[in-house]
Amino acid sequence: MTLNTMNVPDIIIAVDGYSSTGKSTFAKLVAAEFAFLYLDSGAMYRGVTLAGLEAGVIANGKIDEAALLPVMAPLDLHFQQEDGTTKLYLGDRCIEKEIRGWEVSQYVSPVSAIPQVRNWVDDKLHAFAAGGRVIMDGRDIGTTVFPNAELKIFMTADPLVRAQRRHEELLAKGENTTLEEVLANLQDRDYRDSHRPTSPLRQAADAYVMDNTHMTLHEEVVWVLGVIQGKFNILEAPALSC
Ligand code: C5P
Repeated sequence: MTLNTMNVPDIIIAVDGYSSTGKSTFAKLVAAEFAFLYLDSGAMYRGVTLAGLEAGVIANGKIDEAALLPVMAPLDLHFQQEDGTTKLYLGDRCIEKEIRGWEVSQYVSPVSAIPQVRNWVDDKLHAFAAGGRVIMDGRDIGTTVFPNAELKIFMTADPLVRAQRRHEELLAKGENTTLEEVLANLQDRDYRDSHRPTSPLRQAADAYVMDNTHMTLHEEVVWVLGVIQGKFNILEAPALSC
């Protein structure tokens, strides 16, 4: 056991926030630093969306809800630990790359607003996290999925800065989108996620807010370390590797 894993207790850390605020990057880093299991709840919604697209029940701007539910029910969506991080699999096929594509991003928010989809994903997330010592990111983790999580973090950043970061990522992957399209997509997702009737994106009353508009990743980890030390009365600061 390293100094870090000794000092940070076996808790559930819920990370919520707006689209493209870097929740996954942050949560992955914290998981690696403190030996937590990282679970990406958005990946599950993306996986359901990909399956719907491949089955043809999501097409031409429309989601056939009645047809999507029987496509979803038998899906074997699960995470596997690989290369020091968590990857989403559909059966024995790694779908990490496909679920991050532009087409899935177009449909994932309306798919995730379907109450039966949310229930199905929530059941899976509870099962995956049953072992504890988990950091999970999403939109409703601290409010709905784990309302008793010992530590809740809510991430936000200036929309234009978020769009610029995401645009650069997409360009690096060879996806040909404009900054305006990316900004419109993330604003649309923020609006839909915050206004849907089931489990809307909200900041939990007991969440610590991180605005990372002007923060580096290292500063984010130092920030969370300070929060953990204060909240759990840890006097000795663990040594960070990042
Ligand atoms: O986090 P990511 O952007 O990959 O999530 C994709 C979409 O899944 C979000 O835009 C949101 O609509 C939905 N989502 C959700 N609840 C979560 C996680 C993601 O509704 N807990």
